[in-house]
Amino acid sequence: MKKGCVCRFYADRHTSLTEYHPDIEVLNRVISKWWREQIVFAGIVHSHPNGYSGLSASDMAYAKAIREANSLKALWFGVGAVSLKKNMEIVFYDCMRDDFPITLINIK
Ligand SMILES: [Zn+2]
Repeated sequence: MKKGCVCRFYADRHTSLTEYHPDIEVLNRVISKWWREQIVFAGIVHSHPNGYSGLSASDMAYAKAIREANSLKALWFGVGAVSLKKNMEIVFYDCMRDDFPITLINIK
């Protein structure tokens, strides 16, 4: 994020069909490169099957670990709920707080 806008995106292909497990080594290199370019890491977007849009236990653990290891001003996790029954929705959570409230994000 730079000047309040998401300006970079990295597609982490290190995942399974059921859970997202970030490739921490690669992502740390990407985030360090962005940092040198004055781009601040702002969060992770991933999808869940079966229309589930809540944070999983591992999502919350990753969020807390990222928050504690970095001095971020904001950290969002976006969860795309994929289902055959309805359109995909993406719910964003404010991961700077332990109660992980849903956050509305304006997409321009
Ligand atoms: Zn998840």
